[in-house]
Amino acid sequence: MIYLFLLILTIAILLLIADKFLKTSENELVTKINDILPQTQCGQCDYPGCKPYAEAVANGEAEINKCQPGGERVIKELAELLGREVLDPAKEKKTPQVVVIDEDKCIGCTKCIQVCPPDCIIGAVKKMHTVVEKDCTGCELCIEVCPVDCIDIVQLKQSFKYKKVKVNID
Ligand code: SF4
Ligand code: SF4
Ligand code: SF4
Repeated sequence: MIYLFLLILTIAILLLIADKFLKTSENELVTKINDILPQTQCGQCDYPGCKPYAEAVANGEAEINKCQPGGERVIKELAELLGREVLDPAKEKKTPQVVVIDEDKCIGCTKCIQVCPPDCIIGAVKKMHTVVEKDCTGCELCIEVCPVDCIDIVQLKQSFKYKKVKVNID
């Protein structure tokens, strides 16, 4: 009886060690994948940030070509890391864009600040808000939460990222 107990105990300990080892390897892989991603937290990969996307790639849920801001560099580096095939980008590359706030219409609700991944909207409660253009990834997350619809997209010229070519505000 004692031998049976010792055998079960040994198996349980070995299983625990194996589980811990697997989790450590998985966490290391997630960290390596996450280090390759641009960290703009824009959500364009359909995950709520770079780390969740890294986790999905690590456990085989997501393809390696969904990070639009990362482009071909990220696809190539992920393919090399994971020994997977280099894929074409999953989405058409968007024309580079940022957003601007129509400061006359802004009611200072701060909803846009709360959803902005790179934290590039400046403003205080009931004060007008403005976007730091050089940090805006154009993810559009702020547009849908604005209650007065005062955030507009500005298309940027492909080769001159921060030169405005079209302004949509009145
Ligand atoms: S699209 Fe790329 S940069 Fe944006 S959240 Fe996803 S992994 Fe991060
Ligand atoms: S300002 Fe809007 S579009 Fe620009 S990064 Fe922030 S949430 Fe995205
Ligand atoms: S969500 Fe719209 S109204 Fe509210 S602070 Fe941002 S820009 Fe202004």
